[in-house]
Amino acid sequence: MPAQTNSSGRITRREFLIATGLTITSLAVGCKRFQSSTGEQEKLYQVTPSPVPANNPDLILRNGKVLTVDHNDTTAQAVAVKGDLIQDVGSNEVIDALKGDATQIIDLNGRVLTPGLIDPHFHLGFLILLDLMTPFLPPEVTTLAQLQKKLAGLVAQTPKGDWIQGYYLILEANRPPSKEEMDKVSPDHPVWMMHQAGHMGSANSLALKLAGITKDTQDPMGGIIERGSNGEPTGRFYNHRAMNILRDALPPRPEGAFYQSIIDGQKLMAASGITSFHDVYVYGEDTIQAYRDVGTDGKMILRGAIYPVLENPQDLDIALNMQHVQGPFLRLGGFKLQIDGQGPTFYTHEPHEGISWDMPAWDPKIYKEIMRSLHDTGLQVCVHCGGDAAVDLTLDAFEEAMQANPRPDPRHRIEHCGFSTPEAIKRIKDLGVVISDTPSFIRMSGDYWSEIFSKKMMQRCLVAREWLDAGIPLAINSDYPTTPWYTPQFSMASAMSRMTLSNKVIGPEHCLTFQEALRAQTMGAAYAGFDENSKGSIEPGKLADLAVWAEDPSSMSFKELVEAKVDLTLVGGNIVYQV
Ligand SMILES: [Zn+2]
Repeated sequence: MPAQTNSSGRITRREFLIATGLTITSLAVGCKRFQSSTGEQEKLYQVTPSPVPANNPDLILRNGKVLTVDHNDTTAQAVAVKGDLIQDVGSNEVIDALKGDATQIIDLNGRVLTPGLIDPHFHLGFLILLDLMTPFLPPEVTTLAQLQKKLAGLVAQTPKGDWIQGYYLILEANRPPSKEEMDKVSPDHPVWMMHQAGHMGSANSLALKLAGITKDTQDPMGGIIERGSNGEPTGRFYNHRAMNILRDALPPRPEGAFYQSIIDGQKLMAASGITSFHDVYVYGEDTIQAYRDVGTDGKMILRGAIYPVLENPQDLDIALNMQHVQGPFLRLGGFKLQIDGQGPTFYTHEPHEGISWDMPAWDPKIYKEIMRSLHDTGLQVCVHCGGDAAVDLTLDAFEEAMQANPRPDPRHRIEHCGFSTPEAIKRIKDLGVVISDTPSFIRMSGDYWSEIFSKKMMQRCLVAREWLDAGIPLAINSDYPTTPWYTPQFSMASAMSRMTLSNKVIGPEHCLTFQEALRAQTMGAAYAGFDENSKGSIEPGKLADLAVWAEDPSSMSFKELVEAKVDLTLVGGNIVYQV
């Protein structure tokens, strides 16, 4: 993937991927072959695509193994494309018979063709911002001493007084650095150091000073400015609203940064077979305008849905007055809320060993009012939920909004759904809520979670098998760049292996089969965006959004699937990526 090497940050992430994702060579993906999902799942994906166009096809892809992901998971050999739609699917003979003089033929040479992959939880706008920060990633940085050494090196090359921004993934004892630990090597440069997952960060003393944060600064609703025994800030910030108080002091992002992120991000995604994505963290008018500009300039090569996030109660006004963009390549999908943070601040029913367990990121009363208003717009609401209490509070909010103003199939969404109780699963099903799961959280944080959450709680970690058995619509996503891995191949391999960085398997009974992972990354993700009639499977009348794989992914090891390449990506029958 050449686009991956276009900056130093990317190279390091690639190296990190190799160092961490690929250390397993022998374990087959999918811990065991579990019974595939029930009839409940199949009912979800009965679809009514557009009428099929007549006449000869513009394009035929033949002589392949076509994994259609239709209702019966049919395998075919060939696909005919007319305009931007799939005209027909079937054997070589049946499809060849449709050929006309002007029909273009692609010989798949036995390669696998799948529906275009859909990532329903991606943060495109962060790509360039991440490039402005220095990666402190494994294998180079896994301890505080290594972080300090690298920081000292940056200090030596940076003019005094200039900001240094970085992000890390693992530190010993899983403790974010304190201001003193960073002051030691950076007394004269303000430093902002985030965890890659994005919900906690650390500032040194000079950064705190520039942001005007003292012991008198109050914690915002749902955020923590950590204090030491003397009441002074330690430099550690948890949850976005607290982090934003510090981030307000950072230098403004460069002009055009978001615009470029959207363009570069789509190229990365197209190269891994993605044809549609949902950007679920679009914050601020400039970000939304950047999307509009990319769309107006004809540079949306993939089909994007944007979900503006509400970080503060006052963001509601902006959300309610937002222009509803509704086109084939860019549309307003709905809204995003976050009701807790990452592992250490998951909002749970039982205490855990992280930083805070009993604090949602919103006051519940305000949260429910906001939810009610967003539901009343007629659009979908997606909520980041880590802990089981976060899931329950969100279900309460969904249910109250839906009861107050019933409408058919609002299809609200829980993002991540880190921990869910059996009772919650029943409610999720009854309320028609979709789960958009980030399986690589287990890879990224499973070892740490095993330290801070009880054994009993870990048994409820990303219980995908229970969700499927309950008939809940399931999508999987990368959550990139809040995880280090943006490819759907990594997400699928994670859902199938559930392996932590130390190669421990968490909850093997919840491993998905390849077919289930592919469905969650195609039909499941299409359903999560109300697109099941036009995307997610290879069926006549659906959009010709397709991916050709270099090798058959259906029986690969973890390592092979993580590395699996896509040769060709088509959106609406047009090539958006080819080797
Ligand atoms: Zn996210």
